[in-house]
Amino acid sequence: MHRVYLSLGSNLSHPLQQIKNALNKVASIQKSNIVSTSLFYETPSYGLTNQPHFYNIAVALDTYLDPEELLNSTKDIEIKQGRIRSELRWGARIIDIDIMLFNNITLKTPELTIPHYDMHNRAFMLIPLLEIAPKICLPNGQKLSAILSNLSCNAIQDIRKI
Ligand code: ATP
Ligand code: CA
Ligand code: CA
Repeated sequence: MHRVYLSLGSNLSHPLQQIKNALNKVASIQKSNIVSTSLFYETPSYGLTNQPHFYNIAVALDTYLDPEELLNSTKDIEIKQGRIRSELRWGARIIDIDIMLFNNITLKTPELTIPHYDMHNRAFMLIPLLEIAPKICLPNGQKLSAILSNLSCNAIQDIRKI
C-alpha cells in the first residue's frame, strides 16, 4: 500500500462545492481510501493574479494503485467534473487535483513528476499538507516544515483557514 498526498484546488463555479464534490469522487477511487483531509484554505491566485482567489485542501490517501493509475483516476474526476483545459497555464479552473507526494518515490515521465515539481514554492500546497502531516519530508529527506518557513511572508500571510 502507498501513502499519497493530493492537493485539490478550485476557483470557479462555487469552488467550495467543487472541492467537496471532488472529495466524494476521490473517496470512491478504486483500491484507495482517504485517510485524512485538511480544512479548507482560501488562497490568493498563483502565477496569474487577475482571477478569483482559490480554495485549496490537502488529502492523505492510501492506495494500491500505481502512480500512473492514480493520475488517470484523478484526471478522470477533473474531466467528469467539467474541467476544460485553458490555454492559460495557472488560469481559473473548476477543479485541479495534483499528486504532491507518492510514498517517498521520485518519478519523472512526460505525464507525471513526483514530488510535484513546484510544491516547495507553494504555500497553498504546503500549509494544508503540513496540517495533516506535520513531520512530512520530501524523498530527499528535507522537512517540508523547514521549506515552508523559508518561503516569503507574503506567500504565507494571505492564506486563510476557513
Ligand atoms: P501546475 O502543474 O503548475 O500546478 P496545473 O495543475 O494547472 O499547473 P495541469 O494542466 O492540471 O497543470 O496539468 C498539466 C499536466 O501535468 C497534466 O496533464 C499531468 O499529466 C501533468 N503532471 C505532472 N506531474 C503531475 C502531478 N504530480 N500531479 C498531477 N499532474 C501532473
Ligand atoms: Ca496544479
Ligand atoms: Ca494539475
